[in-house]
Amino acid sequence: MRTHNNGELRIQHVGKEVTLVGWAAKRRNLGGIIFIDLRDRYGITQIVCKPDNPMYGVLEEVKNEYVVQVRGRVLERESKNKKLPTGDIEVEAISVKILNRAENPPMIIADETDALEELRMKYRYLDLRRPVMQKNLIIRHKIAQAVREYLNKHDFIEVETPVFGKSTPEGARDYLVPSRLHPGKFYALAQSPQIYKQLLMIAGIERYYQIVKCFRDEDFRADRQMEFTQIDLEMSFVDEEDIYGLVEGLVQKIMREAKGIEIKLPLPRLSFQEALDRFGTDKPDTRFGMELVDLSELFRDTEFGVFRKVLEAGGVIKGINAKGAASNYSRREIERLEEEAKKFKVKGLSWLKYENDNFSGSLARFLEGSGAALREKLGIENGDLFLIVADKLKHANLALGHLRNILGRELGLIDNSRFEFLWVKDWPAFEYDEEAGRYDSTHHPFTSLREEDMDLLLSEPEKCHSKSYDLVLNGYELGSGSIRIHDQDLQRKVFAVLGLSEEEVLEKFGFLIEALKYGTPPHGGIALGLDRLAMILCGAQSLRDVIAFPKSASGIDPMSGAPSYPAPEQLRELKLEVKNEES
Ligand code: ASP
Repeated sequence: MRTHNNGELRIQHVGKEVTLVGWAAKRRNLGGIIFIDLRDRYGITQIVCKPDNPMYGVLEEVKNEYVVQVRGRVLERESKNKKLPTGDIEVEAISVKILNRAENPPMIIADETDALEELRMKYRYLDLRRPVMQKNLIIRHKIAQAVREYLNKHDFIEVETPVFGKSTPEGARDYLVPSRLHPGKFYALAQSPQIYKQLLMIAGIERYYQIVKCFRDEDFRADRQMEFTQIDLEMSFVDEEDIYGLVEGLVQKIMREAKGIEIKLPLPRLSFQEALDRFGTDKPDTRFGMELVDLSELFRDTEFGVFRKVLEAGGVIKGINAKGAASNYSRREIERLEEEAKKFKVKGLSWLKYENDNFSGSLARFLEGSGAALREKLGIENGDLFLIVADKLKHANLALGHLRNILGRELGLIDNSRFEFLWVKDWPAFEYDEEAGRYDSTHHPFTSLREEDMDLLLSEPEKCHSKSYDLVLNGYELGSGSIRIHDQDLQRKVFAVLGLSEEEVLEKFGFLIEALKYGTPPHGGIALGLDRLAMILCGAQSLRDVIAFPKSASGIDPMSGAPSYPAPEQLRELKLEVKNEES
């Protein structure tokens, strides 16, 4: 139906007769001349029609989003549009066919739309006509293609694993699906292919991957969806270095092909503790500095009772220097930051400003002679704002890490054209859940342990480190993985640490335990979040902007109306009864 697409014509095509198709993105009538922006996936080409043109009447009829076919001649434009790749030319209509009419769309279909997200999701097919959304889907597609090409070349086999299964070990809430044939029984939707990919290693597949949907019933956030896509892979006969090497090559190829950016390898590595100590988070954004500084020594003899008590109780005093921010943050603003810090269980936030060679702020009167030492340690200069937290190490780190991220954003310190990948390794294997009174796996229960910590497993599990690793990009956790346990005795011990009884283990993961008996190779793997990666590479604010048909923040699809009440007949078949529809 077309000879060219709407992103294709350039000055060298002038004089050529072409046929184009697309949607009428905009129609203007300037001094009697009709201009139409014809849009397709590839771009926009301007169609022009003068009043003496026999097609004038047809084009007058064309409204927004009409689908048209235009045969015409390429002309050089008088006033060129530098913003448009086709901006040097226009196409003068020779014949025009309206292929379909359209109702007036409920939203502006252009990168800058007036529509709120709810409306965009209700008319997703119109929202997806916006060039920016198509660009996002194309970047996502390029990422997926790069993944497939790279892994195929490295001898991986793509294998599909079931969506309907039993609970997997990621520890989020399951989505349950009632079984009609087995009333009262439910399938759990896979939170990940974790167990199956390990079984594939036991099966001798050696290298597996899958671009796969995973389902977790968790609370929504801008960077979370109930169904999301993982780039999931697993390899046999490998250690951590093999995984690092393979994944680094993969992200290098993705960056090259989806963004045209060359990243340097090897990627930096931080231990979990170093990440927390320096950046206050296990997923540091290293595109800016403002690292956390330990000031405990400096305040060792302080008169300030609050600090002294914290130090005596084994806590720390740490701070960050927001360079040049003294005048940006009023007392009120600092109180807002304090509220943010308190979300991480710290009791308060102390602060100092250094202006005109003078300290001011809540701590100033406790500085006495130590002002100069403080300035030196923190590189404080006139105009700086310094925020200090005294608390347990963990809470102080997390609170300051949160403030660091807020300040980085608010002070415009983050260069959005940069992509900083890094590994976080040496994770503690277990976390103690105070409320539940038991240990949880930091990654998942199939994660292997560092050999040197093995003796501590049963006596002091909190001191054990796992062979797991996270890949972080620009402050987001892009994915995690680990070397797995391939020894059934070790697996049993880990379950014991987690307080799972023999029966529970058999009930939950019995088939994996059974399989471990039959010659399991050493293996490990990782899963990277495709949606998250696409979001970051597209510079999108939300995962919803890189998923064709996402759910809203409350798990609703405004377009289809899901979730919805089943018909009574469906419930009868499933032998289910809904007690209180409202609750
Ligand atoms: N299955 C894990 C997850 O979804 C990833 C992995 O260990 O490979 O977090």
